[in-house]
Amino acid sequence: MKYFIANWKMNPVTEKEAIAIAQDIDEENVMIAPPFVFLKTLARRVKKASLAAQDVFWENPKGAYTGEISAGMIKSLGVSSVIIGHSERRRYGGDTDERVNRKTRAALSQNLSVIVCVGEPEVVRKKGMKSAERYVKAQLGKDLVGISKKNLNRVTIAYEPVWAIGTGMSAKPEEASSMMLRIKRYMKERYGVGIIKTIYGGSVTEKTIKGFMKEKTIEGFLVGGASLNPRSFKNLIQAEKRP
Ligand code: PEP
Repeated sequence: MKYFIANWKMNPVTEKEAIAIAQDIDEENVMIAPPFVFLKTLARRVKKASLAAQDVFWENPKGAYTGEISAGMIKSLGVSSVIIGHSERRRYGGDTDERVNRKTRAALSQNLSVIVCVGEPEVVRKKGMKSAERYVKAQLGKDLVGISKKNLNRVTIAYEPVWAIGTGMSAKPEEASSMMLRIKRYMKERYGVGIIKTIYGGSVTEKTIKGFMKEKTIEGFLVGGASLNPRSFKNLIQAEKRP
């Protein structure tokens, strides 16, 4: 069964709205990634879904880092996972590959599971799939350097081409799938990891989901915009069961 991560980004505004959306999409194969401020409440309210934070700081578990949230704090809420290196954190939050690596290490040290986001920008994709592959491999080489094979078992790679996020232009399912295969192969060659979970993100909607469902290498989806509309999101989850 494919699984779905609902990345709410900086939405919704109120806790009441957050509870309402979460209760509507509370399914076993769903992970909800709300803003930090809603995590505690949702940890109590959500019954079947799991929860993820959208980011984490690299120092742990506490200290003089105004405005930051540690892996230890996330864990103390009973939250199991964290998204790291989302392209919006790289763009607006100043995340470099080095920071992504430090954050990933901090999260793994607290036994959290990590979803590391990688993906090429449009200028790179325009040069072709080979360039995109080189770009993604370079990210993975830096983002995961020094992490033990055992800890890499708790890492999922989200392939999210930057040009596809929030634009309505999703990657072609066969291209996304071929990138997943290349990622899996690279993880084996470089890190000796036999099995690594790979998911796709980038304008997954009711219209585009069908093509992706057929691809075996795509184990799940990171969904932004469509995850805030429970009706649309439920249609995505149920797409697997439809003929
Ligand atoms: C995302 O936030 O990671 C994402 C893929 O967004 P969207 O589904 O809106 O493209």
